[in-house]
Amino acid sequence: MADAMDERTRGLEEEYFSRKNKEAIEKLRAKIKVAEEAKAAGTSSMKCPRCDGALKETKFEEVLIDVCDNCGGVWLDSGELDQLTRQSETGGWFSRLWYAEG
Ligand SMILES: [Zn+2]
Repeated sequence: MADAMDERTRGLEEEYFSRKNKEAIEKLRAKIKVAEEAKAAGTSSMKCPRCDGALKETKFEEVLIDVCDNCGGVWLDSGELDQLTRQSETGGWFSRLWYAEG
């Protein structure tokens, strides 16, 4: 009896998780679609975390950064800061800013 009950619970759990996985995959697909459409339109898929304005990809010193078209906030993806600092080892403004003392 107890075993049968366990199996039934397990079956329900599996069903629950496979449904959750499916939902997650569908959400991810929708997200990718939005990102692709945004990319085609020349905008980043991301909304500004500060004001909900649209983030636009802007090339700055050969690095693509996201700039909010509403509040002017600048957002960096992972690796972009690294690119900016590395690049400025050649003496860009960013290295002066980043490595400035005091
Ligand atoms: Zn903004």
